[in-house]
Amino acid sequence: MQKYLKKIYKDSKDKYFNELAKDLNSKKKRFIITVNPETLMISENDNELKAILDSNFSYVADGIAVVKACKKLNLDVKERITGIDIAEYLLNVANENSYSLYLFGAKEEVINLLVDKIKNEYQNIKILGYSNGYVDDYDKVMKKIVKLNPDICMVALGIPLQEKLIYKYFKEVKKGIYIGVGGSFDVLSGSKKRAPKIFIKLNLEWLYRIVKEPKRIKRFWNNNIKFMLKIKKK
Ligand code: UDP
Repeated sequence: MQKYLKKIYKDSKDKYFNELAKDLNSKKKRFIITVNPETLMISENDNELKAILDSNFSYVADGIAVVKACKKLNLDVKERITGIDIAEYLLNVANENSYSLYLFGAKEEVINLLVDKIKNEYQNIKILGYSNGYVDDYDKVMKKIVKLNPDICMVALGIPLQEKLIYKYFKEVKKGIYIGVGGSFDVLSGSKKRAPKIFIKLNLEWLYRIVKEPKRIKRFWNNNIKFMLKIKKK
């Protein structure tokens, strides 16, 4: 696990966003993996996810527990860079530069709401296509995305499916930022609320999510608590 924590981007969110802007401008390709305790815990028993973490993609600390674990290992990771923050940034930069976008994931009504919102609020973005995340054939959608060659592709199917799908096709990708954004479409579409700023500031976003959706407790235990216990032993 230590070797994965070592690969996490250390500098500030602003610097990271500048790097993304440069990639987009120069038509480079980048696969962003938002690392949280769930990613690391699943990877212990999942060789495909392990291979993704063993590669050389762009890893950021999505969860506060990951930032803290890095600090404990004397890795100077400055701050969280969450999937939703990256998604919001990418929408803004895409709007400023008329970049193209593909959205894949979430429920049909959620993706429709999000597409409407983008059409209204980010009018310069070229939406090349979108698909809900409950299709029979995920590969078919990914093949279509690669063919369309968007500047930005956000996949919101949850960990680890979103990462595995991008990984499977990333070799064929010519340009663009590809990122798995988990539940971000639910929030960006307005279907779910993100935690109030004070929770985010106090690093208690996880608590807000559990209170709002108590069924998350099991996931939280299996991933976050076990992860923290593991790091503590180090
Ligand atoms: N999802 C999907 N297809 C699936 C399973 C999940 O599109 O087969 C979507 C789901 O609707 C939600 C997202 O994936 O929008 C996962 O959200 P969750 O809050 O679990 O992710 P987190 O942000 O906690 O990683």
